[in-house]
Amino acid sequence: MRLVWIYPDLLSTYGDRGNLLVLERRARLRGLPVEVVEVNSDQRVPLDGDIYLMGGGEDLPQVLATRRLQADGGLHEAVRQGAVLFAVCAGYQMLGTEFGGADGQPLPGLGLLDISSGRGERRGVGEILADVDPALGVPRLTGFENHQGVTRLGGDVKPLARVVTGVGNGDGTEGAHSGRVLGTYLHGPALVRNPGLADLLLTWAAGQQLPPLPPQAEELALRLRDERLAAVPAQ
Ligand code: GLN
Repeated sequence: MRLVWIYPDLLSTYGDRGNLLVLERRARLRGLPVEVVEVNSDQRVPLDGDIYLMGGGEDLPQVLATRRLQADGGLHEAVRQGAVLFAVCAGYQMLGTEFGGADGQPLPGLGLLDISSGRGERRGVGEILADVDPALGVPRLTGFENHQGVTRLGGDVKPLARVVTGVGNGDGTEGAHSGRVLGTYLHGPALVRNPGLADLLLTWAAGQQLPPLPPQAEELALRLRDERLAAVPAQ
């Protein structure tokens, strides 16, 4: 299982690297051999990854990362070949057809997901809870969000979840997915707080159901999850 972390030098806010660590751990605990590849923005994106990860970022790094990925073309090719792509916040916005640049002007995105983002009136900051598209079979999401962007979904994607508390896309939905491409506004990091989402990505990449982890391996993850769910006042 090759995990490719795209541009940690530009896209890695709020501990989003934790998403990589959790995928690595949960794959290894199931006996899957794992290789982790970190690709900085001056390096080519390899085509042979199984799961590609993109984190959040500030406005300017987000613009630079988009230009580099567009010029490189490797991520587009990997997704075309069926790789799994998981993107958070700035990474999520970048996948769309357009997003709001550093001074708010619309900039072209990577066109890997049928979404388009602009800048909202206020930043969405704080804890977020959202109920996942039942088709994905993942329990309620808990996360932390901090973004100015608002995102509109086109007809070729489905919302990842419905917001219970927080902002998400800005219209009551949160994130989007289509095929094996999935984006979310959730930091936390998302896959640390939501192991079910991590396992969904691993299942897609492995092409088969994976056995559950032994309870003692889940103890800390579940404790963190319960604590964060309880931190949000009555829903
Ligand atoms: N710069 C983007 C925004 O503010 C994304 C921020 C982030 O990744 N946390 O909307």
